Amino acid sequence: METLEKLFEETLRDIYYAEKAILKNLPKMARKATSSDLSSAFEEHIEQTEGQVERLEQIFDMIGKAPRGKRCPAMDGLAEEAGEIMQEAKDDTVRDAGMLAAAQAVEHYEISRYGTLAAWADKLGMTEAAELLRATLQEEKDTDAKLSELALSEINVEAEQAEAKSPGRKSRGGRKEAAE
Ligand code: FE
Ligand code: FE
Ligand code: FE
Repeated sequence: METLEKLFEETLRDIYYAEKAILKNLPKMARKATSSDLSSAFEEHIEQTEGQVERLEQIFDMIGKAPRGKRCPAMDGLAEEAGEIMQEAKDDTVRDAGMLAAAQAVEHYEISRYGTLAAWADKLGMTEAAELLRATLQEEKDTDAKLSELALSEINVEAEQAEAKSPGRKSRGGRKEAAE
């Protein structure tokens, strides 16, 4: 039991560090995004993330510990990759697609962490903490779903544009086949 409590605290510090890093990185991504939908999705998640940090601070308070982050190499790596994409992508559409994918990788890390923490909070009998963790978990899942939707709609638009550029090709082939 004592071991799980310690693990809970360490993981809380891990995600606290990650959320703080996200608060630092998301504004940059919102500024760099060309798609206004993507940019506003990032902006909206900044606000949510501020609330998530507050929830974590409440939980630190519940376990009688000062809120303190612990360096998360996974988050650092994800942020580094996002930074590389932003620097290297020359095309606006490609940069948006890369940033969207990077953001989803972060959401997936968060979903994993919050799912685990909520389950551990249950085990430790910390009902209120579990509720707070599940509220954040839901926000991360909703954000991930929203990003997926955005990815699909942008891909569809591009596909339509590509098709519009060569309208004759398909129908010519069709006619030819019909004649044979
Ligand atoms: Fe978060
Ligand atoms: Fe971590
Ligand atoms: Fe998130």
